[in-house]
Amino acid sequence: MTLSSTDRTRHRRLKENGRTDRADLLEILRAGFVCHLGVIVDGTPMVVPTVYGFDATSLYFHGSVASRSLTGSTEVCVTVTHVDGLVIARSVFEHSVNYHSAMIYGVPRPLAGAEKLEALRILSEHCAPGQWGYARQPSRKELAASVIFDLSLEEASVKISSGGPEDAGTGDDLLPDGSYRWAGVIPVSPAWGAPVPDAALPEGIDAPEHLIRFGRNRNQGMVIDHGGT
Ligand SMILES: Cc1cc2nc3c(=O)[nH]c(=O)nc-3n(C[C@H](O)[C@H](O)[C@H](O)COP(=O)(O)OP(=O)(O)OC[C@H]3O[C@@H](n4cnc5c(N)ncnc54)[C@H](O)[C@@H]3O)c2cc1C
Repeated sequence: MTLSSTDRTRHRRLKENGRTDRADLLEILRAGFVCHLGVIVDGTPMVVPTVYGFDATSLYFHGSVASRSLTGSTEVCVTVTHVDGLVIARSVFEHSVNYHSAMIYGVPRPLAGAEKLEALRILSEHCAPGQWGYARQPSRKELAASVIFDLSLEEASVKISSGGPEDAGTGDDLLPDGSYRWAGVIPVSPAWGAPVPDAALPEGIDAPEHLIRFGRNRNQGMVIDHGGT
């Protein structure tokens, strides 16, 4: 399955980093849970970090009914970014970042009723797997106070940048002391820790198995290309 190419999602600059395989989009969404929601509010661009969930066709994001950025029925652009490393080049100009990133355009649709509850479940299970069945269910008041949107994955693009610096042999890299300037990649990857209990918990309450597994599973999540380093 390939991503649809529209006038907006067609890669122009650094085209070689563009990907059209839908599997890359889903992998990027699977590996994260925070997106940046870009929306125009009262004529001003606003970029709001927020959590998300997704399924094969949609991205879901939610918030308070009072949120100014969550009014729906207006064009948005959502990005999800994973930084894989810092590319240290010989020249300051050639420094760059290795990354996996996705961009999704569309008009989000507010959900209601059974669709709203199912989208909340998907979002919750994506962010904290196992908690939908373990934690207290949302009350009617909590549901009424929150909105959740369905943003179609129909118009999306992916860019992946990997590898090392590209300025070998383009300048004089001999330093005054006779050594060569170093170049390469400094990899970075997220690391989850073990669950830390709330101070208000009674003594001897252990974290459930799904939360103990959580960090381990996430740490093993995405195969990241560190440019052969
Ligand atoms: C962590 C990080 C740091 C970056 N730092 C820089 C930087 O310092 N300078 C710089 O020039 N670029 C940087 N980039 C790349 C940047 O995101 C753009 O891809 C690039 O600048 C091209 O922008 P453009 O507006 O010319 O895109 P165009 O090629 O004109 O964009 C056309 C379409 O391609 C798609 N697209 C573009 N960029 C992305 C993307 N990153 N992910 C998914 N889809 C995309 C969108 O659908 C967009 O509408 C960085 C990317 C990441 C993830």
